[in-house]
Amino acid sequence: MPTAAFTTLGCKVNQYETQKILESFEAQGFEIAPFDAPADVYVINTCSVTQSAEAKSRQTIRRAARQNPNAIVVMTGCYAQFTIRRGEKLDEAHLVVPNPDKLRTVEYLLEHFPHFKAALEQARRQGEVPARRRSRAVLKIQDGCNVYCSFCSIPYTRPVMRSIPYQELLDEARAMVADGYREIVLTGVLIGDYGPETGSGGPDLADLCALLSEIEGLERIRISSIEPTLISNRLIDLIVGNPKMCPQLHIPLQSGDSRILKAMNRPYDQAFYLDLICRLRERIPDCGVSTDIMVGFPGEDELAFQNTCSVVEQVEFCRAHLFRYSPRPGTPAEAMRDHVPDSVKSERIQQLQQVCKAAARRYAARFLGRVERVLVESRSKLSGLMTGTSDHYLHVEFAASPSLAGQLVRVRITDLAADGVIGEVVSG
Ligand code: SF4
Repeated sequence: MPTAAFTTLGCKVNQYETQKILESFEAQGFEIAPFDAPADVYVINTCSVTQSAEAKSRQTIRRAARQNPNAIVVMTGCYAQFTIRRGEKLDEAHLVVPNPDKLRTVEYLLEHFPHFKAALEQARRQGEVPARRRSRAVLKIQDGCNVYCSFCSIPYTRPVMRSIPYQELLDEARAMVADGYREIVLTGVLIGDYGPETGSGGPDLADLCALLSEIEGLERIRISSIEPTLISNRLIDLIVGNPKMCPQLHIPLQSGDSRILKAMNRPYDQAFYLDLICRLRERIPDCGVSTDIMVGFPGEDELAFQNTCSVVEQVEFCRAHLFRYSPRPGTPAEAMRDHVPDSVKSERIQQLQQVCKAAARRYAARFLGRVERVLVESRSKLSGLMTGTSDHYLHVEFAASPSLAGQLVRVRITDLAADGVIGEVVSG
């Protein structure tokens, strides 16, 4: 099957259009390759917004031609249109598709280079369609909670601590992998407590992860949510040493203020949480940390709220789920004084959203230019690009074949987006 590779310069519209062009190639039967891999056709969707964008467009075209001197290099996009208008010619570009016709690039190619048509017809006669794969499965490993946070009703409804026996979990995980899943997310109410005392049959959480990682075909293991006080050094060692473990943890903060944490009956204070993040990131560089934060707990004054904002700024959470406190019947917090008015909760939620957004952006910026392993999930309705989640839990958008859904690909992070990052699939 002939192969085609794509890259984009410039804006979001170009990114989206590249995705469309890519899909039209795929519909014709081309196999899609990463742009830095050998391919029969390279398509460069160029940009001319600045002189440097034009220069970069030219460099990219030359790079493609050098990569495979036998390949057909196709350029389209705004810079391509300018070269047509100015009567310029770039020796390395074998075909220039006018910008308004860019979505018909594959038709131009087949018309000008009929040998691809013949190769595709032959491939079609012998062809087979790759099976579609699934992406991520959730495996519940534990139930019950005995922490009794003062705002939460779960310990009253699920007081019995129960770890699912590890043999059952291994069987279930193997079945998930056989079903096509590549990533398993471990979940439960208090999964850090998983262990022999509550019926696991032997392993604690770290040992369970190690056992799961031996399953052939399972490529990533992610821990959905773990209390800060239950992250053991052995679990950190495992994340450091086992490439199947995602370098990311979801660690509920709830509040960044020690007084409020005490009132919440959370078993740590601000200093403990910050120290934990430092220790984690010393061992697991750029460890992704996502979190839950509750806004407007009784007694939360402006200083307490600012302490939460300060922790967000220091930690740079990759994602944060913000909740507005609402009383749960029968919980100690319901009977507390100093309930925060709804209007103040709304203001604080809005303010905190901005702080979280800026902090997540700073965290994502650490990855610019770096290559991340990404599990391809689905196509974004908004941008039209394929989306996926990286090992560090970045939301990544990139031009790729929808047939890659459920597979792990390597993506170079090229830009920041409103809610994540933009990237380009690379080989290897
Ligand atoms: S918030 Fe979580 S840790 Fe606290 S009591 Fe509820 S379930 Fe348990």
